Amino acid sequence: MLIQAMELSKHYGEGESRVTALDRASMRIGPGDLISIMGPSGSGKSTLLHLLSGLDRPSSGRLLYDGRDIYSLSDRELSAFRRRSIGFIFQQFNLLPVLTAWENITMPLLLDKKQPDTAYLQELARLLGIGERLTHLPHQLSGGQQQRVAIARALAAKPEVIFADEPTGNLDSKSGGEVMELLKGVGAQLGKALVVITHDRAVAELARRRFVMADGVLTEVTA
Ligand code: ADP
Ligand code: MG
Repeated sequence: MLIQAMELSKHYGEGESRVTALDRASMRIGPGDLISIMGPSGSGKSTLLHLLSGLDRPSSGRLLYDGRDIYSLSDRELSAFRRRSIGFIFQQFNLLPVLTAWENITMPLLLDKKQPDTAYLQELARLLGIGERLTHLPHQLSGGQQQRVAIARALAAKPEVIFADEPTGNLDSKSGGEVMELLKGVGAQLGKALVVITHDRAVAELARRRFVMADGVLTEVTA
């Protein structure tokens, strides 16, 4: 899948209090691309990620997935598209505390009335090193294990692209490094495109293509 963001802008507020969170950001994301985006707090990274993934709509600009303008879809069509084609990983893991790891991983599929591919999910859990933890509740897992459950959940519907917003931000540097290596390894093995927002230079340097954000302006800095 080829993703083309064309001059995406996002403004919040009106008049004196108007903020330009994102200023004409353009990028192309190809199949299997591994991309990092670095920048200080408030520079517009999350805004960009929400727009690239169709979680929000821009003030102006276009976003094409294989040539199809996804902002021309209705909200309902857009959320169905997101459920099937896009995986998300968040800083806060966002696991449901009353569900086991396995239930957290399969829940989005069940909500979408899909049968989980059990063999695929068990293999994925094994690759992520949580195969023996699937009956545990989130509070019985370490932060790094919880994030690995969240990675399995993001991959459960076999999306073509994964967006991760500071996935190692709540982890110490050792487990953050492990989670990032696993995410990168599993993404490469399954041929997924991966876009990772981070303010950790070591994490950013694991990516093949690197971007920086400053005051809403996105720039590619790939060596
Ligand atoms: P980052 O993820 O890089 O920390 P964000 O994308 O969250 O940055 O925010 C970029 C800018 O947009 C900030 O100035 C922030 O205060 C502003 N912003 C983000 N979301 C909103 C919102 N819903 N309403 C108003 N301003 C917002
Ligand atoms: Mg953010």
